[in-house]
Amino acid sequence: MNTFEDLLSANREFATDFAFGGFDGIAKAGVAIVTCMDSRIDPLRMIGLQAGDAKIFRNPGGRVTEAALEAIVLAVHLLNVDRVLVVPHTRCAVASNTEEVLREKVAESAGTDVTWQRFHVIEDQVATLGLDVHRVASHPLVPDSVQVGGFVYDVDTGLLEQKY
Ligand SMILES: [Zn+2]
Repeated sequence: MNTFEDLLSANREFATDFAFGGFDGIAKAGVAIVTCMDSRIDPLRMIGLQAGDAKIFRNPGGRVTEAALEAIVLAVHLLNVDRVLVVPHTRCAVASNTEEVLREKVAESAGTDVTWQRFHVIEDQVATLGLDVHRVASHPLVPDSVQVGGFVYDVDTGLLEQKY
C-alpha cells in the first residue's frame, strides 16, 4: 500500500492538461517571495499571480536565511527577478512562542529531549523584518535596481501591510 497514492492519483489528473512543458522556469512576473511555511498562506494567489510567475522560498517564520539569500541571488541574476517581497505573517508560531515553549511543545509530541533543536524564534517580528529586508537589499550581489519590500500578511483578513 503506497501511502502517497492519493497524491499521486491527483498528480496524474493534474498532468492531463499540463501546459508548462518546455517552460524555462524564469519568474515571468519578475517576483520573488520569501515567506513562512504556514498553510494559511497562498503566496501566489495573495498577490494575483499564478504558477510560473514567481520564485518562492519558504521556511518557518519567512526568514531571510543564508539559503534564502542564495535563492534570491540566483533569482535576481538568472531567473528574471527584480522585485523581492519578504512576508512574515500574523499569528506565526515562531513569532508568538519563546524558544523554550516551542521546545516544550515539540518535546511533548516527540516524547524525547529536544533541547538540542533550534527553532530560531522571532522576538520582534517587525524589527526582524526590517533586518531581513536590509539583508537582501545590502547583499553585494543584489543590485540597486532590485526593489525589496517587507510586508506582514494578516492570516485573518488576507491583507498585506507594507512595513518597509
Ligand atoms: Zn509562520
